[in-house]
Amino acid sequence: MRKKIVAGNWKMNKSLQEGLELAKGLDKALKGKAVNCDVIIGTPFIHLASVVEAIDTNRIGVAAQNCADKESGAYTGEVSASMVASTGAKYVILGHSERRAYYGETPEILKEKVKLALANGLTPIFCIGEVLEEREANKHFDVVKAQLKASLFELSAEDFAKIVLAYEPVWAIGTGKTATPAQAQEMHAFIRETLIAKYGKEIADDTSILYGGSVNAGNAKELFSNVDVDGGLIGGASLGVDKFLPIVEAF
Ligand code: PEP
Repeated sequence: MRKKIVAGNWKMNKSLQEGLELAKGLDKALKGKAVNCDVIIGTPFIHLASVVEAIDTNRIGVAAQNCADKESGAYTGEVSASMVASTGAKYVILGHSERRAYYGETPEILKEKVKLALANGLTPIFCIGEVLEEREANKHFDVVKAQLKASLFELSAEDFAKIVLAYEPVWAIGTGKTATPAQAQEMHAFIRETLIAKYGKEIADDTSILYGGSVNAGNAKELFSNVDVDGGLIGGASLGVDKFLPIVEAF
């Protein structure tokens, strides 16, 4: 059975002290609560080790938002997958549209990052999604399929089974414009069909496909009620317990 997941992406927000306060606040709010999904928070690199120490990681998984495409060495300013794993974080968000657009992350670079993440025991939360012009030109299915193919489809079935996908239409990220539940379901079903063709029904059925793009307490329930939407990757609304908790509880 595939997992239901609600994952926060804090992006470049929160000082270490603010991040710890948020993580501890969420941990406290979830304590003793029966929730129907896995909860993950994606923090800046420098928060990882402290956040892992401060919370119950059985209750909340911790994710980095990136890792290097090289194992180690003279790559000033980079953070490797093994360094991320050494903090106790278990996940890494890869391929976010902001990394692709602002930091030139190509499908080839992302392929290396995925390989290193897996080699170091991290679960990649791999983001895919089209920009507005691509949707308007009716190319969104082709774009998403090409992104999957270019960065993930050389993985063995065994390795692919460890990936979590996040469909994030770029036009819906941080814009307040959400894909309609029907648009989300349509794309998620397409992704699952694509996975069936490549890896077979069992692996496709077990792959969690999250939706991301302006998810909030008001729209989460309807989005998550779709059969192929297995949760959410949440940016802005993950920055406060009051906003994030209702999304977790939407399952
Ligand atoms: C994201 O950063 O992955 C995201 C979906 O952001 P937001 O929820 O703010 O649109």
